Amino acid sequence: MSLKKNTKETYIIRKILKWYKHNARNLPWRKKIDQKLPNPYHIFISEFMLQQTTVNAVIPRFNEFINIWPTIEKLSKIKESRILRFWSGLGYYARAKNLLKSINLIAKKHNYIIPNEYSDLIILPGVGDYTAKAIIGIAYNKPVLPIDANIERIVTRIYGIIKLEKEKKTQINKFAKKLISLNNSSNFIQALMDYGSAVCLPKVPICNKCIVQNYCVAFKKNLTKKIPVKKIKKNLKLKKYTRAYLIVNEFNEILVRRRPAKGMLQSMIEVPNDLWVENKKKLIRDNIIKSFSLKLSKIKEKHIYSFTHFDLYIEAYFTKIKKIKIKNYKWLSLNRINNSGLPTVMRKIVKMFIKLV
Ligand code: SF4
Repeated sequence: MSLKKNTKETYIIRKILKWYKHNARNLPWRKKIDQKLPNPYHIFISEFMLQQTTVNAVIPRFNEFINIWPTIEKLSKIKESRILRFWSGLGYYARAKNLLKSINLIAKKHNYIIPNEYSDLIILPGVGDYTAKAIIGIAYNKPVLPIDANIERIVTRIYGIIKLEKEKKTQINKFAKKLISLNNSSNFIQALMDYGSAVCLPKVPICNKCIVQNYCVAFKKNLTKKIPVKKIKKNLKLKKYTRAYLIVNEFNEILVRRRPAKGMLQSMIEVPNDLWVENKKKLIRDNIIKSFSLKLSKIKEKHIYSFTHFDLYIEAYFTKIKKIKIKNYKWLSLNRINNSGLPTVMRKIVKMFIKLV
């Protein structure tokens, strides 16, 4: 692969790097060590957090995370339940599990140092092509270009890519190779990400202020609204149904249990709820309700929680019982639900109940 630049790419890289000098976002994981490159551990953690979560939502959680676990050594000593508890509110808990598995592998195989080779990173749990490239590019200044949504948008517009789906991907990869900075890759990757979030915006790009306008095919052909070509929308989102149960004792504690280690919200705690089904008529009362023959009151408010591939329609019920020990269950104080490790969907269910009492 030849990485020699022609004039167009050299110009774009130079211009965007210059723009970045004055407009870089001040993100905590970007802080440079010795004024050179960011801390690879910080980049590693931030890339896991940024999968499916916005930059603004990640910033405070990243700071909190680094405060608690400032090094790989410290993070590699914790149990999975601890990181899952921390991850509450960030969603997509498989990320937290994979992050810890990866850190443990790095501790063992790479002597607590984040690898700087693509081949060592790509085999870690939760690390795909984008994340591996983001880490070696941003943290180690290797000449690569990870394609996130911002970079994809800029590349498709600059080169006027109007292909769909698979063909689009092939073309993006082909053109992205041309836009790799050989010597200043770390800054250039971050510069493109920032440029996409500040100037080359998804709906209405600010083309009149764009410094690479002269080289942008989409701009010249008046196609900025059509590029990137949108994915063809698939059928409406799948619906699933469940009933959740708030079982409360005389100390204002609710009954919770741990979810299975596989499937949605792996190993997270939850309030008892029925198996999630696509046909509402097939809902079967959860065993805990059946075995105690509890008398239930329905909460009027209903809740729909949106997961990536389906919407979960939730009806909630509550009942009061005397505090007793139940195998595989524990009692959780209603005052502690915000830092209990309950995933967001479960917290919302509990809050529906709290509003009533
Ligand atoms: Fe994006 Fe407009 Fe600049 Fe093209 S001219 S790169 S569409 S901001």
